[in-house]
Amino acid sequence: MIDLVQIRKELHQIPELAFEEYKTQQYIMYKLQKYEGLELYEFSPTGIFAAYNGGEGKYLLFRADMDALPLEERTGCNFASQHEGVMHACGHDMHITILLGLIDEVMTSRPQVNIIFVFQPAEEGKGGALRVLENPIWEKYQVKSAFALHVSPTLQAGEISSRAGNFFAATCEFDIVIKGKSAHIAIPEEGRNALQAGIELYQCVQQLPKLVKSKEKFICDFGVLNSGTARNTIPVDCFMRGTIRAEDEQKIKALKEALTGICESVAIAYGVDVEPKFLVEYKEVFNSQELVNDLKAAAKACDVRYHEAEPTMAGEDFGYFAGRWGGLLFWLGAADAGKNSLHNNHFLPDEKALAVGVKIMRQLINEIKGT
Ligand SMILES: [Zn+2]
Ligand SMILES: [Zn+2]
Repeated sequence: MIDLVQIRKELHQIPELAFEEYKTQQYIMYKLQKYEGLELYEFSPTGIFAAYNGGEGKYLLFRADMDALPLEERTGCNFASQHEGVMHACGHDMHITILLGLIDEVMTSRPQVNIIFVFQPAEEGKGGALRVLENPIWEKYQVKSAFALHVSPTLQAGEISSRAGNFFAATCEFDIVIKGKSAHIAIPEEGRNALQAGIELYQCVQQLPKLVKSKEKFICDFGVLNSGTARNTIPVDCFMRGTIRAEDEQKIKALKEALTGICESVAIAYGVDVEPKFLVEYKEVFNSQELVNDLKAAAKACDVRYHEAEPTMAGEDFGYFAGRWGGLLFWLGAADAGKNSLHNNHFLPDEKALAVGVKIMRQLINEIKGT
């Protein structure tokens, strides 16, 4: 068995942003090269594909995401990030380590089954899954179903949770650029106030639940609004960044239309240009009931406590893997002592979760093989 705790510490020190995971890729490749019979291939620019051909039939696919976040680490741990302003604050260092642990288990025990392991770059809002799935390599392999886990900041190590059906939300990120006309603040009639238009737009978006009349929960909201440069000048532009989250892609589409409608009305009312720009979209994660049953059986066999999860408004581009072949995503308990959440620069998932993750994934292979 490889030293999971040590590997995680080493990975934690070299966090890299989306599509820049060069050191991480090199580290993983170095660890994988010792396994005889493991087919290796590098996805451009920073991903890795590894295939184990142990039997007949379609491949099971296990995926780990690799990227970190633009945050300054504040955990105070002795293996903190060595990359200034970048941190593994979403636990993807744990995910990589668990996948390396699973590969080690598989290459040692050599089960009679075909398995593909994917180290996927750029999960954090850059659409790494789609990029990996566009690769022509998939034409050569038939996949049965895809699996992934994500560390949970609320469950304890030794617990997991999941649910059948819609699990992680569909998401769409967007920017809105408002262009007005500058003038001295004392002669407002000569200007077109982009900030005022931005505030109106912000308020209208808060009314979206009433407009859309959706019974299902959704989110359409902003995290950034920048406008103006001088105290006594009518702001000429206003820049807003936001995100939409909903149960599935259809609802995202409806919300994008509603948002576009609001932009048009605000543009007319304030005499400004309002341009919404829709960016990366993530498909919802839909879990197969059958695979959730397999997960429950695996949890029982491993003496790990299974909880039924609530759907989450978080996004995960694993949805594209699950959407293509059917799949399963689950939360792996890894709460830290401070109960910090994901994307918090104090978040330091519990290393005890590493062994649990490997054990569950390995047992899943047995459960699925048996069905
Ligand atoms: Zn994240
Ligand atoms: Zn994550």
